[in-house]
Amino acid sequence: MAATITGVGVGLGLSCSSKLTNRFSSSAGSSRCSVKMSVSVEEQRKNFTLKKSEEAFNVAKELMPGGVNSPVRAFKSVGGQPIVFDSVKGSHMWDIDGNEYIDYVGSWGPAIIGHADDQVLAALGETMKKGTSFGAPCLLENVLAEMVISAVPSIEMVRFVNSGTEACMGVLRLARAFTGRERIIKFEGCYHGHADPFLVKAGSGVATLGLPDSPGVPKGATYETLTAPFNDVSALENLFENNKGEIAAIILEPVVGNSGFIAPKPDFLNAIRRITKENGALLIFDEVMTGFRLAYGGAQEYFGVTPDLTTLGKIIGGGLPVGAYGGRRDIMEMVAPAGPMYQAGTLSGNPLAMTAGIHTLKRLKEPGTYEYLNKITGELTQGIIDAGKKAGHAICGGYISGMFGFFFTEGPVYNFEDAKKSETTKFARFYRGMLEEGVYFAPSQFEAGFTSLAHSSDDIQHTITAAEKVKMRFLF
Ligand code: PMP
Repeated sequence: MAATITGVGVGLGLSCSSKLTNRFSSSAGSSRCSVKMSVSVEEQRKNFTLKKSEEAFNVAKELMPGGVNSPVRAFKSVGGQPIVFDSVKGSHMWDIDGNEYIDYVGSWGPAIIGHADDQVLAALGETMKKGTSFGAPCLLENVLAEMVISAVPSIEMVRFVNSGTEACMGVLRLARAFTGRERIIKFEGCYHGHADPFLVKAGSGVATLGLPDSPGVPKGATYETLTAPFNDVSALENLFENNKGEIAAIILEPVVGNSGFIAPKPDFLNAIRRITKENGALLIFDEVMTGFRLAYGGAQEYFGVTPDLTTLGKIIGGGLPVGAYGGRRDIMEMVAPAGPMYQAGTLSGNPLAMTAGIHTLKRLKEPGTYEYLNKITGELTQGIIDAGKKAGHAICGGYISGMFGFFFTEGPVYNFEDAKKSETTKFARFYRGMLEEGVYFAPSQFEAGFTSLAHSSDDIQHTITAAEKVKMRFLF
């Protein structure tokens, strides 16, 4: 993991002239201005209660399975009940009990320019006046498609869908259609949405055919899914050796975010690129998380490795539901109606999602954005690690641009097995302590964290100070 403490960012400093003191007065266009905690931390901790959240969640549990619409939100791995939120702005969130938090989840990635950005909201307001969905072509699709194509090295043509899951489903069908092969390789601990073929228990046996990870997934759906440990080139070579001429594609998160933050070893991505070429298989980068986050052109630009196909989501929808897959023109021309591979969507390319995406990408394209993200995320990650070490904990972590993670284990963490060595009970205690200090991390040890252009040096300093306090309290 040490390899990922690499960021030597060029600090831009905070260009905003005045710090905002409440959530309703964010200044338009100054994405690096952040919202200051409106009450002091001491005050917040003293008054910290989640009574209303608890009541609302108890009602929710009767209405929706587990009280949520996506499982990790339920706080199962950190204990207690989830927090029910009322509003978000910039780098901050407010719950229905009135507590304020610095947010490092960013709606699981989309909020890279800050929540409820004024320019995005204004543009959405204008677009909305013309309607919310046409179910027919609109000019905004062309605009976002051009932006994505010019940004992401592998993408020559793109298809918009409504979620990352849909993007991964589509790209898998396409890879199979193009190669005429059915087997795919995914890596342990990588998540590619909840479609059947990807829900495969990560096994350590390199040649083991996948077994379903969830009841309801038929064995047949995962039979062609092979798994290997992340960062393990020889496991991959064995899979290709034992399945000659049968592997359609490798799909991976180029930097894993769904087992915590795990970076590729130097040359891992190059090796995969070489192996796929040698074997006539396609290489798919699932950049739903890393796209426009590690760099404007995603992980493929950051690492200089170009896959054949790419999936995107999150950021390109600027907080509205979106996904996309794209890649080489000769492959993409197989997609209906240009070609025979069928895939469709009622709300795909809808004007609202396109608008939020366009304005989010415009902001990201401004000079210095990724340097700023790299700088603050480096300070944050290092600060948390130092706080942990000072308090006597085994801890390691890493970051690239606006994505980071830390594990309560000595490290290094190269794959999911390493990540599982993290002391999750310690993480849970740390997590609850940080909540009381007004810091909201993802409620699982096995999720990456995200910063945004709206996070200020104050936010980072506040978080590090909170980590120092909490880690001292939890020295056991
Ligand atoms: N791929 C990756 C790498 C993801 O991180 C996610 C979601 N976290 C998905 C696919 C699925 O995206 P969605 O939740 O939008 O369906």
